[in-house]
Amino acid sequence: QKFVYSFTEGNKDLKDLLGGKGANLAEMTNLGLPVPPGFTITTEACKVFLETGSEPASLHEEISRHLVALEEEMGKQLGQADNPLLVSVRSGAKFSMPGMMDTVLNIGLSDASVAGLVAQSGNERFAWDSYRRLVQMFGKTVLGVDGELFEEALEEAKKAKGTELDLDLTAEDLRALVDTFKAIVLRETGREFPQDPREQMDLAIHAVFHSWNGDRARLYRRQERIPNDLGTAVNVCSMVFGNLGEDSGTGVAFTRDPSTGAVGVYGDYLSNAQGEDVVAGIRNTLQLSELEKLDKKSYDELMAIMHKLELHYRDLCDIEFTIERGKLWMLQTRIGKRTAAAAFRIAVQLVDQGLIDLDEALHRVTGGQLAQLMFPRFAPDASSKQVARGIAASPGAAVGKVVFDSYTAVKWSRSGEKVILVRRETNPDDLDGMIAAEGILTSRGGKTSHAAVVARGMGKTCVCGAEELEVDTKRRRFTTADGQVVEEGDVVSIDGASGKVYLGEVPVLPSPVVEYFEGTLHAGADVQGGLVQAVHRLVSHADVRRRLAVRANADNAEDAGRARRYGAQGIGLCRTEHMFLGEERRKEVEHLILADNDKDREQALSTLLPLQKGDFVELFQAMDGLPVTVRLLDPPLHEFLPDITELSVRVALAEARKDPNENDLRLLQAVHKLHEQNPMLGLRGVRLGLVIPGLFGMQVRAIAEAAAERKLGGGDPRPEVMIPLVGTVQELEIVRDECERVLAEVASSTGVELDIKLGTMIELPRAAITAGQIAEAAEFFSFGTNDLTQTVWGFSRDDVEASFFTAYLEKGIFGVSPFETIDRDGVGALVKLAAEAGRATRPDLKLGVCGEHGGDPDSVHFFHEVGLDYVSCSPFRIPVARLEAGRAAL
Ligand code: ADP
Ligand code: MG
Ligand code: MG
Repeated sequence: QKFVYSFTEGNKDLKDLLGGKGANLAEMTNLGLPVPPGFTITTEACKVFLETGSEPASLHEEISRHLVALEEEMGKQLGQADNPLLVSVRSGAKFSMPGMMDTVLNIGLSDASVAGLVAQSGNERFAWDSYRRLVQMFGKTVLGVDGELFEEALEEAKKAKGTELDLDLTAEDLRALVDTFKAIVLRETGREFPQDPREQMDLAIHAVFHSWNGDRARLYRRQERIPNDLGTAVNVCSMVFGNLGEDSGTGVAFTRDPSTGAVGVYGDYLSNAQGEDVVAGIRNTLQLSELEKLDKKSYDELMAIMHKLELHYRDLCDIEFTIERGKLWMLQTRIGKRTAAAAFRIAVQLVDQGLIDLDEALHRVTGGQLAQLMFPRFAPDASSKQVARGIAASPGAAVGKVVFDSYTAVKWSRSGEKVILVRRETNPDDLDGMIAAEGILTSRGGKTSHAAVVARGMGKTCVCGAEELEVDTKRRRFTTADGQVVEEGDVVSIDGASGKVYLGEVPVLPSPVVEYFEGTLHAGADVQGGLVQAVHRLVSHADVRRRLAVRANADNAEDAGRARRYGAQGIGLCRTEHMFLGEERRKEVEHLILADNDKDREQALSTLLPLQKGDFVELFQAMDGLPVTVRLLDPPLHEFLPDITELSVRVALAEARKDPNENDLRLLQAVHKLHEQNPMLGLRGVRLGLVIPGLFGMQVRAIAEAAAERKLGGGDPRPEVMIPLVGTVQELEIVRDECERVLAEVASSTGVELDIKLGTMIELPRAAITAGQIAEAAEFFSFGTNDLTQTVWGFSRDDVEASFFTAYLEKGIFGVSPFETIDRDGVGALVKLAAEAGRATRPDLKLGVCGEHGGDPDSVHFFHEVGLDYVSCSPFRIPVARLEAGRAAL
């Protein structure tokens, strides 16, 4: 098995094997771009290493062969005393995990070869600077020494010099610092900093392998849903030096603006620096456009390469480059992360440029991104106090209490607070705080700083580089330009689209994308650089492609109207329980529950009938011409009765006053009688219909009479009646007989022909398993995936999400909550089985989903795959479901 590939051997499609960085370094090499030569050790080697604890047997030898070839090409040997070759050892997994794993630069430097580097470069300061960077990085990432120790020593050296800048340290200072660093290594690890270059390289390779399982990397993967078993590749890349003087430097760039999609020159540049310095925000960077003045030749070459890359990848690329004494080198490229708005704009721009077609464009945007675009934005009013303006790094409107460290961010957010994480700059250790926070605010760093890149990847609001703010994390406060002090716990609002920072809570407005769906945006308005048009085009294209219909969960005319505007093709779930709430109706429900004879019961039902009917008339009107699936009463009855404690107190007080209330006493008895240990598994759904005579009949009558009334009025009502929580076909048959009798009665009494389908929910395992029988009595199935998930897993959502889900997620038992994304292997398998069995019995059986999963992107793809007819979700999720149903069909 081949474990090592030269950069000349790979290509961009080998990401599984070579990781993204390695595959793209190879691709750039093959495109003839200036990439420092090197080779990539595969993810397969990493997997073997992580499984067995040691390298595959052949690896050492294979690396040696590639190293010799590299040394021959470069005309120098790794760590050679008089003319050293130096390399970087870089992590690089299939999916980019910015800053989450390790990289070590300047491998090959030692007490002996540092002199060779001085001779090679004629620059003593540079050589010692590189060596101290090696000992520092190697000490921290490979040997596990606390990085702070090196930082402190570096700070001390600068203080002794009376400066704040690394650049003021002389060769002598740096040489002394190397000694200090080596002493730290010896003290902390009990061994000398390794002087053998090959040993350095091998240890660094192992460290990169290990970093795949580091805490940061694991957390990031969980957040981004990246599988845990992919492993990382390792790239060994000959060093080029941006820290060789003022004619050298290093930078990062995007081929387009990653927050808006606009074409132009975007990036940061730092002269006389090595790679890490840009991202770490150690010194403030220059804008890339200023490179033109510093080094026109390199700038022009860079622009030409960026253009070439964009045409080649047919997408936004981001790159890392280094200039060594006026010579440009490409160190990395990848398809760049971008904001949701930029994703839509860029996809459509590329279609218009003829680089990709609409299918490809649709493929490149996600429902998650569309959902982000539907969030509200700030509408500052006169009372909003703007205190700073930083860089708009990742859009969104975030309001929360200020916290200054990750730990507090996590703690406060667990207790339900919304927090804004404020840091001078973030580093990978801040990751869990960033996840917990509503938004991130930093006082240093540009669009490519750690905070910006990670926030964009997570779709989290971020303002970075707000330099007017003086952030003091030790005292947990920041100070604004005009001297105002903001303490931990104070509320701020940050606008990631404009970079503005406000004190206090700023009011919000609906997003233009929502206004577009609502139809309140006037036609042709060019909002946010064509964003709305881009959304329109891609969602419309999804409609052309998709096979799944999209319906809404809605119980009233207002939601139904919104659902229609958002593109719903019907209502997949109308819950009827709200029709039993409200002062007057609740009274009647109490009467119904307390009734101990037919007369009282019928009395209560006949009072409820016209009220329900009225609700249905409105709903059918709002959804005229489209199907409306009405679910008969589902929740346990005690939900309609007063709270047991309250009622007990009331009764006790009345008794103490010797003034007992007859009705309250009976209610209390009923409440006791109806009290259940596990209401979720108790008297509810079809079971209610079977034990409370006339209840379902009344509901079906209300539906039928409403439909008849609409028809007589010239409307086109299309109700469907749905029975919840069926476990066996017998339950359904009994209820069905009653429903059919009522429908026939209404048809004959009104003289209107009614075509109302009767179907059931599949939300119990037994129903799914016996779906073939149930389909005999059902004209449609709607999968209630919330209850199905609860009953298949045997846990109640209300209880478990707060208790052990976090632990389960942390232990990796779930990648994501099964209530959020359908559990394909368990719950999903039952859905598939029931769909097939149902259709075997009744080929024209309609199949839909009405759980929360209907609006979840991943789940929508699954429902498409198993051949359902529609998904139903909350009105606001409809555009997301339309888009994803289209993407699923590509
Ligand atoms: P990350 O994945 O965290 O970006 P990289 O492997 O890309 O880590 O490296 C970190 C930094 O070091 C980057 O800025 C990169 O450009 C720089 N770098 C990596 N290899 C070299 C090299 N051979 N010569 C010069 N700079 C390098
Ligand atoms: Mg990089
Ligand atoms: Mg249910």
